[in-house]
Amino acid sequence: MIELRDELGAANGVEKTGSTSRSWLSTLSESRANLWAANFVDFGCPVLFAYLGWRRHLGWSSIVVSFLFGLFVFTFVEYVIHRWLLHNPKSVFYPLHNAHHNAPEAISAGLFPQSFVVLMPVWLLLTYGFHLNGASFFLCGLSAGNFYFGMLHSLEHSVRINQVPFRWLQGRWAAHGVHHKLDHTNYGVMTSFWDYVFGTHQRQAKRKAMQA
Ligand SMILES: [Zn+2]
Ligand SMILES: [Zn+2]
Repeated sequence: MIELRDELGAANGVEKTGSTSRSWLSTLSESRANLWAANFVDFGCPVLFAYLGWRRHLGWSSIVVSFLFGLFVFTFVEYVIHRWLLHNPKSVFYPLHNAHHNAPEAISAGLFPQSFVVLMPVWLLLTYGFHLNGASFFLCGLSAGNFYFGMLHSLEHSVRINQVPFRWLQGRWAAHGVHHKLDHTNYGVMTSFWDYVFGTHQRQAKRKAMQA
């Protein structure tokens, strides 16, 4: 595993230090401090966007619709990033995600300020560029999805499936477990909806393999 990470690091121009080669990016993303800071920032984003949206005095229906739409959009963003960015060998993020596939229980998180750094310009653009009143609650839903995703994924690797309370939740555990064995299937962590849409659900992949 370490050898594989070394090769990936070398392939990405990472400097060698002693017998191991590790980029500062890998070191930071695998640190406990970064994980806690990332959880704090990821939790803070929906709170911040709810506060910003609340000041606009929207009706409850606009708040709920914007929030749910943001949550739904996040499930698609999650699928797209996981499938086409994290599993793309040419991507700069590939080594980090590959390290997670090699050591699923190890600490692995994005750089802590990333959700804030990415979403704040989007909020500014939607609010002041396009004058969208529901932008704050849309981003509240989207960032709440991001926080839920982060928690769910880390619990999937730290809690055993037989200790998980609900059947539907056990289904999420099982689906992600399959992704770690057959990494071209089950990209969706929060939902399998987009896997069914794009034909990457484990059942569809199995059917295709049997027909081939
Ligand atoms: Zn995982
Ligand atoms: Zn993956």
